[in-house]
Order: sequence, then structure tokens, then C-alpha cells
Amino acid sequence: MSDAGVAQGAAGRPSAPTVRFGFLRAIALVGKIFAVCIPGATDSAVAVAAAANAEVLSCNDEADEADEADERSARLLLLRQLLEPTGPLDPEISISSSVITPAHLHEDTLRYRVGDGAMARALLLRPTTPGPHPAVLLIHGHDGRAEELTRVRDTYHRALGVHLAAAGFVVLAPDVRSFGAFKIEGQGHNQYARNVRAAGDVYARLAINDARVAFHVLQGVEGVDPDRIGIAGLSLGGFVALVAAAAEPEIRAVVVSGLFLDWNTYFSPQHHFCQHFVALLALGSSVALAADILPRPLQIHWGERDSFAGPGGGLRNTEALVELARERGLPGLEVFVSKRSGHAFDPLAQLDFFQRHLERSSTCP
Ligand SMILES: [Zn+2]
Repeated sequence: MSDAGVAQGAAGRPSAPTVRFGFLRAIALVGKIFAVCIPGATDSAVAVAAAANAEVLSCNDEADEADEADERSARLLLLRQLLEPTGPLDPEISISSSVITPAHLHEDTLRYRVGDGAMARALLLRPTTPGPHPAVLLIHGHDGRAEELTRVRDTYHRALGVHLAAAGFVVLAPDVRSFGAFKIEGQGHNQYARNVRAAGDVYARLAINDARVAFHVLQGVEGVDPDRIGIAGLSLGGFVALVAAAAEPEIRAVVVSGLFLDWNTYFSPQHHFCQHFVALLALGSSVALAADILPRPLQIHWGERDSFAGPGGGLRNTEALVELARERGLPGLEVFVSKRSGHAFDPLAQLDFFQRHLERSSTCP
């Protein structure tokens, strides 16, 4: 990590200070927000940056920019074309079971049909406090399942959904297709991904559209404020979250964890072919696509011990995004490198992010 400019920029500063989290008080983050881009530098925004010992990037509210706006609009149009056909994005939902989880949260199991007619399953966690609630869509990683976000404290997803729901967020955690309980005709992931490829499609495209459907499902959940919905994804789920958030401008805050890479690395043998959605090359770089998410709050999250982050990898791509945001004066970007994580969510860091950006409806931008 020492080769990465993003990390070097904060080297030598004192470790992150105490940060307050709703129901958890005075927990010190063992990690840092390295850069916060702030338009107009409001007092509260500067205070957040200062509390995190973050570098405050200078952001230009007047950034030019009819050309950039045209470019963004064209990229969104092209992205949506690449994701076609999607099928209906607003399916009918049935609740197949309701339980109280070991963490004393209400958990419903939802089933609904996604665009290609497959029957998806998602777990919906509800907080015990009265609504309307902000909400977060959580996309698990390769070989994961929804329960790892809502119940099981594994070392990968680390029950992020439990942390969020306990703090007042509605959480929707779908199984990513072919994992968990979202099996297609009983096929395992590898067999299914091979069959999709043989049919001339790509698994990742379908998974991204599934996430878009899940977002619209979450918008319709009773007690959810449809204007305060975020998304967080880890690894494969991070890739899915990145592209889904670019395609769905109503998603208000975004965490891409453990897999923000240049396209050629995403589509290399380093990653399972299920992620080789090479048509995305037509959009330009992954950095340009991520910049289109801004000025919505976007956290690029890395674990310091994540092998995908290292020299020549994700942190270099992340540094390019920081540079582009700086050049264009785009606010909203945070880069968080967690000292206590490898290739995994850092639940307290992600909880802090969504609390800052979704808890109040007036939160800008
Ligand atoms: Zn795969």
C-alpha cells in the first residue's frame, strides 16, 4: 500500500480520532478517510473532514460544464442501453416468512421476479424505531449469501446489515443470483455462469439488473423514505453496486468496497469470467463511470490488507478517481482505507458513512 499515492497523502498524520455512532458511543475508527471533497466548504462538512483528519479537496461549485454534463448524459444513456433488456424493474413482491432475528430485528423474506423471469430472494431487515427510515441495499460478494449480511458474523460481510438496522436503517439484502437461495434451475454458480456465457450474455449484466430491481423494490417498502436509499457492495457486489448506482441516479449514497479496478483488471483472468462484462469498455474508464456518480456521496473502501488494493491495483485506480474529482471540482468522494480490514466490509466505517449522508433528508448534495 505504501506505493499508493492515496495512502501516502495521509501518511504520518495521527491515527483517526474518536467518532460518534448513534447507539454506539465513542468508538475509535482504526482507519481513515483520506479525502473529502466539499463544495462551498460548509462548517459541518469541514468539521466532518477535520474530525477524520481528512484532506479537504478544493471543489469548484462553478465547474464548467456543459460539455461534461453532455458527456455524463451520453454515458448514462449508453450504460442503460448496455444493460438492456432489463425486463420490469418494479415486480410484485410476496413475503414468504417473517422472523425475529437473533439480534432482535424483524426480518422478512421477500420473493419477486427479476427481469428475465427468475425468482429472486431477498432478506428485509427492519429497525424497531418508527419511520420513515433511510434504507440501504446491500450486495454481497462472490460465494456469499444474504444471511452473511443480516445474521452471520463472518469475516467477509461482517453482518453489516445488522449494524445498519440496529441504527435505524431498513436493509434489503438480496441473494446475488446463483448464490444463497437464488438458484437458477438448481445450478451452481460456475455452471450457471457458463450457461449464461454460452447463451451470449454475461452473468454480471444480469446481476447488475437484479440490483436495480432490488433498489426499486426497496423504494416501495412501507416505511422507507424513497429519497434516502443508499447501496453498498463488497467485491463482486462492489462492482455490481458501482454500475447499478451509475445506472440509477436516485440511489443517494454509494459504497464500493474491495473492488474498484480499471476495466481491464476486472476483465482479466484474475477475476472469475462471470464478471467479464467487457461491453462496459464502451463507456470509457471505470474512473469516468464512478465520477458520474458524484456529487452523490461515494465511498471507495479498501482494507489495508486487501491484495486487490496493492501497487498497480485498486488504490492506483482510486487515486485516478481522486485526481479526476479534483480536476472537475466534483464533491462527494471519500476514500477510506481501513487498517482493520482485509478484503471485507468494515461495518463501523460504512455505518458512519450512511449515517452522515442518509440520516437527515436535508443532507446535501
Ligand atoms: Zn463467478
